[in-house]
Amino acid sequence: MSFGELLRTAPGTKPDFAAIDPTSTPGFDGDKDAARDRLKELRHELTSFQERLWAEQGQSLLIVLQALDAGGKDGLIRKVITAFNPQGTRVTGFGVPTEEELRHDFLWRVHAAVPGEGRIGVFNRSHYEDVLVVRVKELVPKSVWEKRYEQINAFEATLAASGTRIVKLYLHISRDEQRERFQKRLDNPDKHWKWSSGDLETRDRWDDFQSAYADAMERCSTVHAPWFVVPANHKWYRDLAVAEILVEAAREMDPQWPEVQEDLSAVVIPD
Ligand code: AMP
Ligand code: MG
Repeated sequence: MSFGELLRTAPGTKPDFAAIDPTSTPGFDGDKDAARDRLKELRHELTSFQERLWAEQGQSLLIVLQALDAGGKDGLIRKVITAFNPQGTRVTGFGVPTEEELRHDFLWRVHAAVPGEGRIGVFNRSHYEDVLVVRVKELVPKSVWEKRYEQINAFEATLAASGTRIVKLYLHISRDEQRERFQKRLDNPDKHWKWSSGDLETRDRWDDFQSAYADAMERCSTVHAPWFVVPANHKWYRDLAVAEILVEAAREMDPQWPEVQEDLSAVVIPD
């Protein structure tokens, strides 16, 4: 089975996070060094895919990253997403909405950031926060967030129908791993900027977040926009698995070099 098949949440099924070991390495029995070697090859393939995608100007790729705090989104972007040429790739982080954003529907800021033809968009957090943190912290009434799953599905279906391939990745870490990563941040002054006491609040609501994630995946993992649960305690496995999933998507998208109209064999370059 491919990484995608192993890690995909089938439409309509609810992932059982307690049963998915964050230290496991499905589909891979090598060690860290072997994973890093393989990652290099995959990065090459992603680089050349992006070039064809850009040249073709017909499809686009949207990568949605979600995780609990310290889940490794930033590290993943550094290790995997950098395989793509920054010209043609945009990473958008979604934080607490601004006043202006709050005056619009929840998809307004998200829609504005989706990749156009030939481009790759990466969401560091996303519209899913509107059924995750917003639900757990009761920032809007249930009657509002409850309708959002269907709204998200309709939105994503619209993007898919207009040529956007959507890959949604949840980086799954254990509670112990989160504590260790938080502690490392506290012990290293260079990482203090990353610290937010709000992170402890969300750690406090761990189980509520896990069930909000499970519901979001059950309701919004679809054929055209699947969710993948990536065991992410081992950073080397996380990077490898995500790169494998992206390469699978890239191969299916299979962008083509555009046909050149002009007869280039007749071109003479003047001295
Ligand atoms: P970070 O990703 O560490 O920069 O933190 C961004 C913060 O913004 C996280 O605590 C998110 O939970 C929060 N956030 C993102 N989207 C929303 C949203 N729609 N409503 C409320 N908080 C959000
Ligand atoms: Mg944070």
